[in-house]
Amino acid sequence: MNRNSLKYKWLRLSTLIISFTYLIFSTLLIYFTSLYLRDLEERALDRSLDELQHIYESQPINTISRNDILTSLYDEQTMILYTRSGNIVSTEPAGDVTDFAVDFVPVSDDVITTLETEDGNFLVGRSNIDSMYWSGFLTVIHPLDNYYLIIRTMVMIALLIGFLSILFTSIVSYFFSTQMVKPIRSIANQLKRIEGEGVSERLSLKTDTEETDYMVTSFNNMMDSLEESFNQQKQFVEDASHELRTPLQIVQGHLKLINRWGKDDPQVLNESLQISIDELHRINKLVEELLLLTKNNPRQLEEIESINIVEEINSRVSTMMKVHPDYHFAVEHSHDDIQFKINNHHFEQLLLIFLDNAVKYDTENKYIITSTEKHDDHFDIIIMDHGIGIPEEDLENVFNRFYRVDKSRSRQQGGNGLGLSIAKKLIENYKGRVWVESEEGNFTKVIIRFPSNKDK
Ligand code: ADP
Repeated sequence: MNRNSLKYKWLRLSTLIISFTYLIFSTLLIYFTSLYLRDLEERALDRSLDELQHIYESQPINTISRNDILTSLYDEQTMILYTRSGNIVSTEPAGDVTDFAVDFVPVSDDVITTLETEDGNFLVGRSNIDSMYWSGFLTVIHPLDNYYLIIRTMVMIALLIGFLSILFTSIVSYFFSTQMVKPIRSIANQLKRIEGEGVSERLSLKTDTEETDYMVTSFNNMMDSLEESFNQQKQFVEDASHELRTPLQIVQGHLKLINRWGKDDPQVLNESLQISIDELHRINKLVEELLLLTKNNPRQLEEIESINIVEEINSRVSTMMKVHPDYHFAVEHSHDDIQFKINNHHFEQLLLIFLDNAVKYDTENKYIITSTEKHDDHFDIIIMDHGIGIPEEDLENVFNRFYRVDKSRSRQQGGNGLGLSIAKKLIENYKGRVWVESEEGNFTKVIIRFPSNKDK
């Protein structure tokens, strides 16, 4: 198993957590149990000491029966009775005391100490007997064999159960993690398979797990949008090269013409040079517009100064009047002042695109109305001409790049089908919307709607 695999990491983590928890739990359990058991042992010793002390202090030593002494001793305890000077007077059960040395220690009160010997560990309780019947010392030796046996057994059981539970956890974890990573593994396998097969490939598997199914759907959705944008880019490049090819071919044709005839024929030379210059001019404009389309959003809208839309429109329309004196331009405004935060140059560009189209496609009536309408949360700019109009089926496409209703007509008028898509992009950058209403042969109406600036 790979050390970096999810399965291995899961297995390691779960085993570690279980082992750690178990270790802490069993250590605490054994520790507190041992404290409790130790306390029980000390109490037993204390009880024996008290009982024996009471026996020796309440009657003459020769009247005490051996049975009285033995009933006061529990659990293998041994007792030694000393004189005040440390001589052993009696031991019970008789003879046991010589197995190991217990020092004679005179005490004034009851004292319990521990004693470690080769034969084991003991508690030694000492007490002072001072009555009319006996004056001396009493020692009771209490073996801790049972206590240590219980603790040792507990440790052994804890180790055994610990080992078994870790083994069990590891096995369960292994199978569980195998199950868990299965869907991820199958996704990874499929991804590997479709790798390099292009953006049109999709994941086609059902993992029966919510999260991974979601992953598959998200991946496929992401691939959908990737494919769409990939195709759009491809289309854009194809369209752009196609658009560039025509003027380039014209220039090439005329240069060849000049090369063959133009050197001797000034008329051919002049004509061809003029056409080439016009076509190069067209290429230039096209390249500039293409660059404009790929530009990013404007900087933060807050940084932009607001302008008076009404004034800008009036000024732009009066320029158009001078350039096209044969046209009739009308302006109608619902308010004198409509403030909006937009880059001046962008707004000028917008108006120019729509007014230019109105002029281009209204060559008979030559009647163009530009109006504004201010509402509570938005305002509209409407540019209406009375020209050829746009067929209904083309209405939704005119904002697409390079789309032209009548290609040759548009080209004749210097159009390349990019104006409306540039305008739409600019408008959307300022959170606006644009749409066209038209009746073929009657009118075309462009409606631009911007949201009112909040601080106004
Ligand atoms: P172009 O440079 O060809 O004018 P646009 O993107 O500005 O490109 O417009 C796309 C197409 O929409 C035009 O080719 C034309 O067919 C149509 N169109 C745009 N504005 C008008 C209008 N005012 N009247 C009629 N048709 C229009």
